[in-house]
Amino acid sequence: MNQNIEGFSKLVENIVNKAESILIEYPLCNSCLGRMFAKYGIGLSNYDRGFTLKTLLAIKIHNEYTTNTPRREVHKILAENGGGQIASTYRKIYGEQIEPRKCHICSGKLGETLIEAIAREACSKLREYSASTFLVGIVLDREILERELEIIVKHGSDSTESIKRELKREIGKAIMETCNIQPDFAKPDVVLVISFDREFNYSISVEANPIFLTGKYWKNGRNISHIPWYTRSGGKKYPISIQEFIEYALKDLFEAEEVVIHAAGREDVDARMIGSGRPLIIEVKKPKRRSVPIDQVNSVLLEKYTIAPIRVEVYSESSRREIGLIKETSKQKKKVYRVSIYSSEPVNPSELQALEEFFSNREIKQRTPTRILRRKKDRERRRRVYTVKTYMVSNRVFEALIHCDGGLYVKELVHGDNGRTTPSFSEYLGKKLIPFELDVVYVEDVK
Ligand SMILES: [Zn+2]
Repeated sequence: MNQNIEGFSKLVENIVNKAESILIEYPLCNSCLGRMFAKYGIGLSNYDRGFTLKTLLAIKIHNEYTTNTPRREVHKILAENGGGQIASTYRKIYGEQIEPRKCHICSGKLGETLIEAIAREACSKLREYSASTFLVGIVLDREILERELEIIVKHGSDSTESIKRELKREIGKAIMETCNIQPDFAKPDVVLVISFDREFNYSISVEANPIFLTGKYWKNGRNISHIPWYTRSGGKKYPISIQEFIEYALKDLFEAEEVVIHAAGREDVDARMIGSGRPLIIEVKKPKRRSVPIDQVNSVLLEKYTIAPIRVEVYSESSRREIGLIKETSKQKKKVYRVSIYSSEPVNPSELQALEEFFSNREIKQRTPTRILRRKKDRERRRRVYTVKTYMVSNRVFEALIHCDGGLYVKELVHGDNGRTTPSFSEYLGKKLIPFELDVVYVEDVK
């Protein structure tokens, strides 16, 4: 028992002495002094620790004054750097007013008042972004970190908590209490970044996490690109893109800054996407409304069908992780195309029947098509055609339904691209063929 008391007295003596030697060198507020001793005690605030240590130092000064030779110069420095109860003790015993100095780390700004003001402002921002979960990020000017580190290094303190951690914890707690909102460390709706400059003035910026929605689109018209295409002169190559259409429909609904799409592959600009539709993920960036029901999203998308032959349906919320997934798996998924073909010379039904048989389960070698060589590297790819069904319209026009691997260049399969795609319909029939209408009618689902 006695040993315990002795051990504890030693501990208190050590802590008080250390606090004294820190305060002789640096002016510190209660919180910043307390933080140097954050590992002592549990369930206490750093402010409480700092306040208690300063009270003990005030008692010590008074005790020295009455029993020993007073160290007035040291007491004066402690009063200037510690302020509060040390300053009033000093005033009382020496009858001298002193001007306390500002905290070396936080300029005296850290404290309940500051934390509460930040929490109030943060809460109004969280409401503005209809967030139901949040996370706090702290950015501190390098000088503040250096000032703190200097004290820790000089005084060899192993019991400190960093100011960053204290701010993060205290502000987080205050926000929870002020606006009754829960933190989410993995997937918060909003990240509040609170930055402090060298004078410890703060500013709050909001990073609203995007909302992801899975869906499908249908392009019931031609000359519609995925994303806007601009010509060199800055004009638009096509009047509307899938992305612009979706952004036009959903930007206001979510009060978002931007809406972008991530699709499972893409068809040519002049090809329609009909039948099964193509899977996509819609990314709503920086939304201020977060809880829009899927039904409402769908009815707005349907309403906007009048402005462009684009249909979009959404099914559920998604995540960034799923974007990579649909992009990757879409490459392995099979597709069905319908293509209308004009032949320079007449064709007959038996030729088309032979073509169907020849291309049944046939591997096709394709060098990168001439039309996209400017954008893509010249390389060979191999894709398989599974079945071809033809329908003769006239002796120079026929249609083909082609079931094949994703990534097969269908126009080139028809016209051969000057031998860069082989075998091709044109090569097989020995006739010049022109594919004049292309539709994607089926895209295998990604799941
Ligand atoms: Zn401070």
